[in-house]
Amino acid sequence: MSKIKCRNCGKELTYNVISDIPTFPFCSKRCKLVDLGQWFDGEMRIEEPTTSDQLENDDT
Ligand SMILES: [Zn+2]
Repeated sequence: MSKIKCRNCGKELTYNVISDIPTFPFCSKRCKLVDLGQWFDGEMRIEEPTTSDQLENDDT
């Protein structure tokens, strides 16, 4: 089990694997969107859309 803090609000999240948190590294979609808003301000940059392609075990 690992812990991260939401990049937006600082809420602590626990997970076994990163894919447990679809909104990683945020606690929720809302926080993610808020942070994306900051990116669009030019504050941060993202190299490529992180479409967490659940790696190998995508078996849905
Ligand atoms: Zn959050």
